[in-house]
Amino acid sequence: MAGTIAIKNGYVFDPLNEVKGERMDVFIRDGKVVRELSASEMDNAKVIDASGMTVMAGGVDSHSHVAGAKVNSGRLMRPEDHYKCYMKKTPLTHSGSGYTVPTVYLGGYEYSKMGYTTVFEAAVPPLEARHTHEEMRATPMVDMGGYLVLGNNWFLMRYMNEGDFDKAAAYVAWMMRTHKTYGIKCVNPAGVENWGWGENVSSLDQANIHFEVTPTEIIKNLTEINEHLGFPMPLHLHANNLGHPGCWEITRDSLKIPSNVKGKPNVDVEWAETKMNAKRHESVYLTHCQFNAFGGTSWRDFESGVKGITDYVNGKDHVVMDSGCVPFGDATVMTGDGPAIHDLYVLTGNKWSNTDVECECGSGVLPFTYLKSNPVHSVQWAMGLEVLLYVKDPWKSIMTTDSPNGGPFTKYPLVMAWLMSLKARQDTMAECHKWSQDRSGLGGEEREMSLYDLAILTRANPARTIGMAYRKGTLGVGADGDVSIYNIDPTKLDVNDYEGLIRNLQNSEYTIKDGEVVARQGEIVAIPEKRTYYSDIKVPDADEKHMLEDVKEWFRYYTLGFSNYPTPERYLANPTPMTVNPLR
Ligand SMILES: [Zn+2]
Repeated sequence: MAGTIAIKNGYVFDPLNEVKGERMDVFIRDGKVVRELSASEMDNAKVIDASGMTVMAGGVDSHSHVAGAKVNSGRLMRPEDHYKCYMKKTPLTHSGSGYTVPTVYLGGYEYSKMGYTTVFEAAVPPLEARHTHEEMRATPMVDMGGYLVLGNNWFLMRYMNEGDFDKAAAYVAWMMRTHKTYGIKCVNPAGVENWGWGENVSSLDQANIHFEVTPTEIIKNLTEINEHLGFPMPLHLHANNLGHPGCWEITRDSLKIPSNVKGKPNVDVEWAETKMNAKRHESVYLTHCQFNAFGGTSWRDFESGVKGITDYVNGKDHVVMDSGCVPFGDATVMTGDGPAIHDLYVLTGNKWSNTDVECECGSGVLPFTYLKSNPVHSVQWAMGLEVLLYVKDPWKSIMTTDSPNGGPFTKYPLVMAWLMSLKARQDTMAECHKWSQDRSGLGGEEREMSLYDLAILTRANPARTIGMAYRKGTLGVGADGDVSIYNIDPTKLDVNDYEGLIRNLQNSEYTIKDGEVVARQGEIVAIPEKRTYYSDIKVPDADEKHMLEDVKEWFRYYTLGFSNYPTPERYLANPTPMTVNPLR
């Protein structure tokens, strides 16, 4: 139930309002942030004394794999993951298990304990949208949405080949509405299609088999369609050649493709009060940069290629990216990039799952362990941190582990400590293979991020980037009453004592969602209502009619009937459509 709360005397960090640790009160009425509460409202409000504590908006994860078919494959294929981490049923909560791929219940609880209130699923295959929504609906504690995988879609590639922009745009709009998804995800454009023939693409100008479209054409068209339709978020890109030595160059060149495309989100929503412009202007959101930033030419001369990308991003305004940090230990690698996971299987011999989702897209899953003693893994650890430390303007970057690819999201507090504490990085590097020192620049980087920077990287900027800052990632008047309170006193904070910092980030003192305390010192104390966001885009009827004739014609090859293709709203928890307005 949405609540009324007064949070008194905390040190508040609200970057979208340029509040940098000032002592102030935060008031929430009926689930929304308000300027003040009347005397009678105060009488009935819950009052939290946040003296000596850090207060931020609830955490926002803009890229995580938590629901859907490939996450479930990960759960099924590794029983060993389940006994490492489990929780018992309580009168309030379900039981749950799984360390890198937790059950939906445990995943929701773990996010909430860390102070997160919003999580976006990074890859929804169209034909698996119902399954993904079912799992999102069952995930407690957090508001959610999902990105639809469209980078190798047959209809889109056909329209691109024919140069029919209007039909392609109509198809994207229709697919978003049909599957109740939020934004466009593009994984290894042209390459995943080639994987159907056991191939990949190796350059941006290589046309793929049959459809004869190149990665350049797909990225160009999808970024233009994205802005033509007015999506809340930029095109979400997982670049070509991921995970291969030397891939940083193709990543940088991919980011150049939409450099002239202007971000034009056009969504009918009411905006919370913010001092800064809370709308995104970027046309591309690169995900898990670390995995797309490998240097060298082989595993023998492997090195960090991060600087080549961050130098480019520092000089441009159209790119935002998340890091894909590697905090060491167990991970489960899962992605729509089938060929990349096949290559990892050949390298490791680990158990491997590979799926094609009826030619709409594919995926690969593989259990993985990152070791400090492994030369390549130790460089990857350094690279993930380089991505965030080298980008000068924190409004261009977002902290993730591409959970569970670099490691589970439960390790975010560890990553935050490395960003804030030079000593934490030096202590870890001393335990790592020497490549982490020799083949990355991390050892020479002395930047220590502040709590304000962290608030940008973990709530304000993910929310702004994906177009959710009208209600998330800020404590401005009108925003959702989602707040995290950490037992961290910024005036006494000693980042050299990072163990304490990690503990306090792992279990928030209070996690508040819609004005209700839902987690307290690592305990779940209430199960809040949750919402699912999706983009509702209306294109001209004639465009949609012509496009649907093509789609229906092809449906005789699908395993289900056309009328069973859409995801009905009842599959969503509190469906919350956002009206998106295409250019006329
Ligand atoms: Zn991912």
